[in-house]
Amino acid sequence: MSASRQLSAATGVAAVIGHPVAHSLSPALHNAAFEAIGLDWVFVAFAVPPGHGEAAVRSVGPLGLRGMSVTMPHKDAAAAAVDRLSPVAEALGAVNCVVNTGDEIVGENTDGIGFVDALRIEHQVDPSGLRCVVVGAGGAARSVIRALAEVGAAEIAVLNRSVGPAERAAALAGARGRVGTTDDIGSADLVVNATPIGMLDRSPNDPATPIDPSTLSSGQVVADLIVHPQRTELLHLAEARGATVVPGLGMLVHQAAHAFTLWTGEPAPLDAMWKAVRNA
Ligand code: NAP
Repeated sequence: MSASRQLSAATGVAAVIGHPVAHSLSPALHNAAFEAIGLDWVFVAFAVPPGHGEAAVRSVGPLGLRGMSVTMPHKDAAAAAVDRLSPVAEALGAVNCVVNTGDEIVGENTDGIGFVDALRIEHQVDPSGLRCVVVGAGGAARSVIRALAEVGAAEIAVLNRSVGPAERAAALAGARGRVGTTDDIGSADLVVNATPIGMLDRSPNDPATPIDPSTLSSGQVVADLIVHPQRTELLHLAEARGATVVPGLGMLVHQAAHAFTLWTGEPAPLDAMWKAVRNA
């Protein structure tokens, strides 16, 4: 936000809730976007402790917030607190974006479509018809699996250390989803890391990469949802083996772009959002 920007009683307010939330890039992204299109809105971050997510989402209506982003650990609580869920949020049981229509509070989930847009717009990769492996079965993996199935991926094999979550995540892709094995990696067109393995500040007991990089080859697309660091060890090693690599920042920007459009009704100013996130 520029130093000369004047806030007033008429300024619209949108927010992100999470815990922790201090490192969230959402304020930088959305304030840059509001400014780029000349909208008198401001975006702030609230550190909402675990157990208070539902109350925070229920405050959107009374406070007249224009929209709310929801991050860990409140995505499930947000799904329980809204008036209505979009079909994708209902399928996932998780909300990352709360829309205040004036009449009702709607829970959306833009993570999966954000991932698909990052592939398509930033890397010219069309996931339709691709054989995919998704490593992980948590909230981010589930949103990606559902979105890949929606856009016509040929198959989605889910690899996860716990079998039950893998089965439930694979079911989100219907007949094209299944629990996979590491043997699926070599023949996949698209491999997605949706675990935290490779994040900064992870335990030294964790492996450096979620899969064996020697199973990767040129012609494959390897995506990592991790944002810190922007390029994980997995992506460095995959690139060295000739794969096309897709860092997690694109998903972050494009899920925010969808939220921006849901809240404002305007196309997201992607250039301003990318500039803000790179500066942040
Ligand atoms: P989550 O719900 O906690 O799920 C984590 C998944 O990783 C689970 O499947 C878990 O397996 C697995 N896992 C965790 N630690 C592991 C380990 N040491 N070894 C093997 N598997 C392990 O987390 P999430 O919200 O899905 O987030 C996953 C990653 O995506 C994080 O790095 C997050 O920052 C990133 N993310 C990025 C974006 C973006 O916009 N780029 C958006 C959302 C999330 P179990 O089922 O066995 O526990």
